[in-house]
Amino acid sequence: MIECIFCRILTGELPAQVYYQDESWMVIADINPQAEVHLLFISRVHKASFADLSVHDAPLLGSLISTIGKVTGDLGITSYKLLTNVGEEAGQTISHLHWHLLAGKGCEILRP
Ligand code: 5GP
Ligand code: ZN
Repeated sequence: MIECIFCRILTGELPAQVYYQDESWMVIADINPQAEVHLLFISRVHKASFADLSVHDAPLLGSLISTIGKVTGDLGITSYKLLTNVGEEAGQTISHLHWHLLAGKGCEILRP
């Protein structure tokens, strides 16, 4: 059995509120939102974190740019925060590459 929660969401084994998906990313609502809008951009490929990427993953990051543009455009979001945690000490709780997108009420008080 696959242990990774996000891999299980990607296969449909676990439910999620899916906003958008394409060949590289699935975009879901965070189960514990920290702002009015709190989306997770989950890589379809299982990588533990940003630290697992190399220069060969540039196309994956390039596709993230267009996926974020598509989703923010669809939702009419023009002001937002993007965050990816690397490692437990930084707050990473799920070891599967993902970005947080936070927007709307509550977003402005989340400061690094
Ligand atoms: P991290 O702490 O690894 O940067 O982010 C993991 C995020 O996943 C957290 O914000 C947490 O609320 C969210 N999360 C954890 N389990 C689930 C789940 O089963 N479904 C959804 N939609 N989000 C989850
Ligand atoms: Zn995974």
